[in-house]
Amino acid sequence: MSFKNVRAIPSPEAIRSLIPINEELAKTKKDNDKQIADVITGKDKRFIVIVGPCSADDEEAVLEYMNKLKEVRDQVNDRLLIVPRVYTGKPRTTGEGYKGMMHQPDPTKAPNMLEGILAIRKMFIRVIEETGMPIADEMLYPSNLPFVEDLLSYIAIGARSVENQQHRLTASGIDCAVGMKNPTSGDLTVMFNSIKAAQHSHNFLYNGHEVQTTGNPLAHAIMRGSVNKHGNNLPNYHYEDLILAYSKFAEGGFKNPAVIIDANHSNSGKKYFEQPRIVKEILHSRSYNDYICDMVKGVMIESYLVEGNQNGSEPHVYGKSITDPCLGFEDTKELLLDIAGRI
Ligand code: PEP
Ligand code: MN
Repeated sequence: MSFKNVRAIPSPEAIRSLIPINEELAKTKKDNDKQIADVITGKDKRFIVIVGPCSADDEEAVLEYMNKLKEVRDQVNDRLLIVPRVYTGKPRTTGEGYKGMMHQPDPTKAPNMLEGILAIRKMFIRVIEETGMPIADEMLYPSNLPFVEDLLSYIAIGARSVENQQHRLTASGIDCAVGMKNPTSGDLTVMFNSIKAAQHSHNFLYNGHEVQTTGNPLAHAIMRGSVNKHGNNLPNYHYEDLILAYSKFAEGGFKNPAVIIDANHSNSGKKYFEQPRIVKEILHSRSYNDYICDMVKGVMIESYLVEGNQNGSEPHVYGKSITDPCLGFEDTKELLLDIAGRI
């Protein structure tokens, strides 16, 4: 084995007691879980908007963003359920590059996962404390979930993980809503199989135990577009794509058919500035067809303080993405107010 032990990591219980969530914030978190569950099950007719940076790379910039977002949230809360992206683990297409705050609490320094786990707990707790909003993150590594699971209200399974058994089985034991993305290949069958797997009960090894899960009835679809064999991005947010998703759900065997549409990634071809147009087309499709309206519960938008992204070759810009390009805050605010006006 070529593994070298770099440092010992305390148990999830020990980590949670180092940076605990107090009773009041735990209540806020539970209430947020329920609000999201109510939209997924159709009890709450608000539209979910999962919005925030591609990667939460800097606690101060993230908190500044979240506090600005909260002001908009307060204006649209009766129509939109705003769920901030606070993404701390980044999948990399070739494995190279920034892997997120859990690996590198300071993107300019060497990885330190113990510091990273503590840093993300502190950042998540600050977001809940300062804004009261639910936290969305991607579950990139199922084995890392016990360190933060008490703080998350929405979990995405990424395009590169959705076919993985460990992700599917872990999703089946999660209490909050879990969005399963379509794979980068675009095969919707993979996504629907993954939802089915996550909605069922399983026995497997997890966190040092043989566990049994109940199945997660809140597991649902996230459509993010695909990449073909030539490397071209192919969107899947158009009306016909939504009808196809509807027909897959209609084949039966699913609880709470629900779709979130990711307006960036392969749907925009990472042309972040197209996200408002894409979201408006989705709202139009919803208004045109009641079934689509019921099924499409929300959208995902990549957004940060400053628009675009940076690759590290120029002086660092505070609040600008170091991973995927994002919509800037002012355009995001305008878009959120616009969505609220159309719902
Ligand atoms: C993301 O949400 O930033 C992301 C990496 O998504 P996907 O898994 O769809 O590529
Ligand atoms: Mn991204």
